[in-house]
Amino acid sequence: MAPQDPSPMSAHSPNGLAAVERDIARACKEARRDRGSVTLIAVSKTFDAVAITPVIEAGQRIFGENRVQEAKAKWPGLMSAYPGLALHLIGPLQSNKAKEAVALFDAIHSVDRPSICEALAKAIGSQGRRPELFVQINTGEEPQKAGVAPGEADAFIAGCREKYGLSISGLMCIPPVNDAPAPHFALTAKIAARNGLANLSMGMSADFATAIQFGATHVRIGSAIFGTR
Ligand SMILES: *Cc1c(COP(=O)(O)O)cnc(C)c1O
Repeated sequence: MAPQDPSPMSAHSPNGLAAVERDIARACKEARRDRGSVTLIAVSKTFDAVAITPVIEAGQRIFGENRVQEAKAKWPGLMSAYPGLALHLIGPLQSNKAKEAVALFDAIHSVDRPSICEALAKAIGSQGRRPELFVQINTGEEPQKAGVAPGEADAFIAGCREKYGLSISGLMCIPPVNDAPAPHFALTAKIAARNGLANLSMGMSADFATAIQFGATHVRIGSAIFGTR
C-alpha cells in the first residue's frame, strides 16, 4: 500500500465512494457551487478497519464516527498507517469524554450544552489542540434528540464565545426522519447566517443533494459509501 499516494477514484471501487463523489459533484454544479466548497465526511461507524481501508485507498481522507470509544479502538492504528487522515465526531458527546474527544478528533459536530462547552474549553486549554467546533441545532425540537432548540441557538452560540472562549465554526443538524429535510436545512442556514457562522454540517446519504442546495459545507455520508449498517 502507498498511503502517501491516494490513488484516483476508480469506477470499479469496491465501495460507494465513487458514486457519492459523482453525486456531490452534480449537486454542486446544479447549485452553482464549487465542488471545493463541500467537504465529504465518510461516516464509518459500525464498520471495521477491513471495510474502511479500501475507502482510504480510494482517496478519502476525512471520516466521521459517532462514538468516542469506538473511534479510539479503530482509528489510532489506521491513522498511523495512513498519515493525513482527519477524524470528525458527529455523535453526542458527554462531558467526561471531552478530554479524549479533543485528543482524537479534528472536529466535533455535537456541541449543545454548557457542560460540554466547559469541558471542551478545559481540554482545549490543557492539550493545545483546537478541533473545529459545530453547534448542533435540534431543528425538529425532538425531545429524544441532542442539540440546542432553534429559539435558544443565538444565546447559546454567544455563550460559547463569550463565556467559554470557544471558536465556533458552524452549525450541524439532523432533520427528523419523517420530515422533508429542506425546511430544517433552511432554518439551520438562517441561524448560521445571523450568527456569522460560515459552516453548515448537514446532509446524509438520503438527502445530501438537498443539503448542498441549502448551503451545506460538510456532508456526513455513511451507508451510501459503506453499505447498510
Ligand atoms: C450515521 C450518521 C450519519 C450518516 O448516516 P447515513 O444515512 O448512513 O449516511 C450522519 N450523521 C450522523 C450524526 C450520524 O449519526
